[in-house]
Amino acid sequence: MSHVLSAVAWPYANGPRHIGHVSGFGVPSDVFSRYQRMAGNDVLMISGTDEHGTPILVEAEKEGVGPRELADRYNRVIVEDLVALGLSYDLFTRTTTRNHYAVVQELFRGVHGNGYMIEQTTHGAISPSTGRTLPDRYIEGTCPKCGYASARGDQCDNCGSQLDPEELINPRSRINGETPKFIETEHFFLDLPALAPAMGEWLQTRTDWRPNVLKFATNLLDDVRPRAMTRDIDWGIPVPLPGWQDNPNKRLYVWFDAVVGYLSAAVEWARRTGDPEAWKRWWAADAGATSYYFMGKDNITFHAQIWPAELLAYNGEGTKGGEPGPLGKLALPTEVVSSEFLTMEGRKFSSSQRVVIYVRDFLSRYDADALRYFVAVAGPESTDTDFTWSEFVRRNNDELVAGWGNLVNRSISMAAKNFGSVPVPSSLTAEDSALLDSVRGAFDTVGSLIATHRQKAAITEAMRVVGEANKYLSDQAPWKIKEPERRDRLATILYVALQAVSDLNTLLTPFLPHAAQKIHELLGGQGVHAPMPEIREVEDLDGGPGYPVIMGDYTVGARWEHVELPAGRPLSAPKPVFKKLDPSVVDEELARLAS
Ligand SMILES: [Zn+2]
Repeated sequence: MSHVLSAVAWPYANGPRHIGHVSGFGVPSDVFSRYQRMAGNDVLMISGTDEHGTPILVEAEKEGVGPRELADRYNRVIVEDLVALGLSYDLFTRTTTRNHYAVVQELFRGVHGNGYMIEQTTHGAISPSTGRTLPDRYIEGTCPKCGYASARGDQCDNCGSQLDPEELINPRSRINGETPKFIETEHFFLDLPALAPAMGEWLQTRTDWRPNVLKFATNLLDDVRPRAMTRDIDWGIPVPLPGWQDNPNKRLYVWFDAVVGYLSAAVEWARRTGDPEAWKRWWAADAGATSYYFMGKDNITFHAQIWPAELLAYNGEGTKGGEPGPLGKLALPTEVVSSEFLTMEGRKFSSSQRVVIYVRDFLSRYDADALRYFVAVAGPESTDTDFTWSEFVRRNNDELVAGWGNLVNRSISMAAKNFGSVPVPSSLTAEDSALLDSVRGAFDTVGSLIATHRQKAAITEAMRVVGEANKYLSDQAPWKIKEPERRDRLATILYVALQAVSDLNTLLTPFLPHAAQKIHELLGGQGVHAPMPEIREVEDLDGGPGYPVIMGDYTVGARWEHVELPAGRPLSAPKPVFKKLDPSVVDEELARLAS
């Protein structure tokens, strides 16, 4: 048994999440974690909502509420959606807990104490009316290179030039239209040049990463500059240093705070389970655990550069040396697993242009496992991928319903009708053994594909074996066997089919946990087969306001192995597990998009 940390990207709490968000990291991290638990490993799957930073403030102002109130609202919406998808977090928390504040400030102090937080004077834009920082992307103006009227402060989308906001002609705030004021301001910068040699050495050992991620991370080292880790903003975690701590307009950069969440959530989980030091089994550098970070490709920089650099700095492993802080020497990521982008009917997801379907709306009309199946078999694992409603309906109907659902349904109903229980097999033919061997062999192939983040290949292989089992049933045609003297053969065929269904159900459990539990019960099984997450209302551990978390008992459930189906176990006529979709839903959904 080994310890596996599943570190899942933190959804930003400025609104509900759409299916593009959960396709990139939510479902894949759950499939991986469920498989690792079934394979006998001790998994800690953690995440939470990311609740600081400018976009939260902007949205809160738009909705006429405070930032905390806005974060409370969307934290709850996101928690409910992730539970409805069956995502098995050991802890899904948030960045506004007092525990998180304390761990983030400890990380900052450690990095600062080792000399890797350097204070520099810089130019920043502020809003004259609020005094708040205006990030580059919230400033627009006329491009000095091409004259395009709506260039952003960081880049002109017309000519592609990289810009500084001060270069814009007639700069204005995208939030309220006013002219930003450029001021001198003091900030702390993470000394990336002092950490780059150690980063480079570490990256050279990461040979099994997806090549695009490794190349991206390595290229980042070609041009490293100190990077600001504090902001002029009043919504965030205070900078824990004299003269800064009490300044209401200086806060830690939201990205500094959010990535520390992987550590603070593990600490919170340990404290909540009554063993406050337990987080070290996944986090201590010498514990030997593995850690996998799941995210979309737009976040590679923060997970493959900024976070490892913070950890190296905390450990005292840059060119300036240093000592690990009180948390001890911390483990760097084993692998950064980045997905590509999902588009919707050929367009980028956009809440403002209503090219979107929110998780909640999706699940009000379709089953969670139908979405999970689509994400696994056709999601943006290694290339940008388009979600279309017609492809969703086709895959659901032709593969999930007509393939897997049909195998489950006809095997169990024929056995129930003819025997009322799992029949007793007699001697096996070559065809019987061939199918059973094929199914058993899939545990190794499908398992190793999931373990190496090739989930599309993994579910495709499992579904190929489902196809073999369907062909076996068609070839053996048990429905044609009426002669009493061939009843033994009928029993054997149906036993083989049910055994195949049972093992295939185990193979599909990480992908389709809701259906897997139902099929387990249809086969006469009892107890939990696929454990599910639950929402718990908890108190803040350090006296802050209470909040909902996702937790669960995942120590129960099926193992990743063949299990002999006991002959004689009672069966009843099954209800269909998957729903066939009427093709008319395609037009209905497209009309919703356009409206
Ligand atoms: Zn331009």
